[in-house]
Amino acid sequence: MSLTVKVLIGMALGIAVGLGINLTGLNAEGGFIDEFVVNGLFHVVGKMFVNALKMLVVPLVLFSLIGGVCGIGDIKLLGRIGSRSFGLYMLTTAIAIATAIVIAAGLGIGKGMNATTTAEFTGKDSPPLTQVLIDIIPTNPIDAMSQGEMLSIIFFAIMFGCSLLMVGKKAAGVISFIETLNDVMMKMVSIIMLMSPIAVFCLIAKAMANLGMDLLFQLVSYVLVLIGALLFHLFVTLQVVLKGFSGLSPAIFLKKIRNAQVFAFSTSSSNATIPVTLRTVTERMGVDNSVASFTVPFGATINMDGTAIMQGVATVFIANVYNVDLGVAGYLTVIMMSVLASIGTAGVPGVGLIMLSMVFAQVGLPMEGIGLILGVDRLLDMVRTAVNVSGDAVVSTIVAKTEGKLDVDVFNDPSAGTIDTSGEILVKATPA
Ligand code: ASP
Repeated sequence: MSLTVKVLIGMALGIAVGLGINLTGLNAEGGFIDEFVVNGLFHVVGKMFVNALKMLVVPLVLFSLIGGVCGIGDIKLLGRIGSRSFGLYMLTTAIAIATAIVIAAGLGIGKGMNATTTAEFTGKDSPPLTQVLIDIIPTNPIDAMSQGEMLSIIFFAIMFGCSLLMVGKKAAGVISFIETLNDVMMKMVSIIMLMSPIAVFCLIAKAMANLGMDLLFQLVSYVLVLIGALLFHLFVTLQVVLKGFSGLSPAIFLKKIRNAQVFAFSTSSSNATIPVTLRTVTERMGVDNSVASFTVPFGATINMDGTAIMQGVATVFIANVYNVDLGVAGYLTVIMMSVLASIGTAGVPGVGLIMLSMVFAQVGLPMEGIGLILGVDRLLDMVRTAVNVSGDAVVSTIVAKTEGKLDVDVFNDPSAGTIDTSGEILVKATPA
């Protein structure tokens, strides 16, 4: 049985057990199940696994990106990869939120609902764009790494890689040392993945056991429209974009991206999923490391299609609940704000709500509206993170294909990059 199948079984069992605990009321606070199983066993195993993934993110991004820059060897090409991926990330995010607004407004969700909420939400500011730009250059690269500041790490790694190239022959030893370190980090990803079926089970069972089911039913129109818009973006928009720009098969893509989606779903964090996304696009899809090492961490930070969709649907929903007419100009502001907000905020759990509070402040929607959807956000965060990560992978694949950095045989080979039970990779991608 392949690891992906085991992970999917872990996920299905996690949903069943978690919902079982929730619906039978076994999760009563302070009870045995709540204390020792849900917040004991599930919590500890799940958190240990997420920590293990996060442990890999910074060194993996650093070594693979320095290695990637040296592998490209051409600064012009680097610029093209950068601008192409940036353009595609912004384009898909803008399409995502526009579709969400059209769907939600067309269905008129939230109309005639009485706004009653007890949950308080105090909006936190996400950094202004000027500060985001300034912070791309770290004053202290070690500090940036310890804080996991992705854009600063990317900047430092690219500059380091370019300088290695410019130093030339003398740096050859350092380059091959870094490439070996990258292989070691990838090996660590494979080892940690072996734990994933159990960890995914624990993470999902815990999340489901703690879900506010009654809230879910109260907000059923919001939840259903949002999930519908997310699925539409994943299965229609992104696949049209993939096919249109690269000519590659959406069916194969959707099959191979599943693993990364499950991790994004279980961790609610595109950042923590970086090791898995990177492995999926390089070893399963055949994207050369020189492209993926840049586009994946860059996408995890600036590209959030799923989060943008949530903002579109939430804005329409809350505007209708409070009878506010935003008008076309209002909605255009929402689109612009969401795209910009996604650049400065990292892919970590719950950050979508912070971005939403920025959007609300801009168009003058009541902040307490966010309190209304707070209770169901945990589940929706899981779903939208899976969409965020899928968008990162689509753009990585397109950029690689258009730059001749995609091994099409690997992409088309169903077993490429699958891991066997000892953590060995079955079919290795050959560099394009
Ligand atoms: N959790 C999401 C991510 O990491 C961001 C969000 O929508 O809250 O991509």
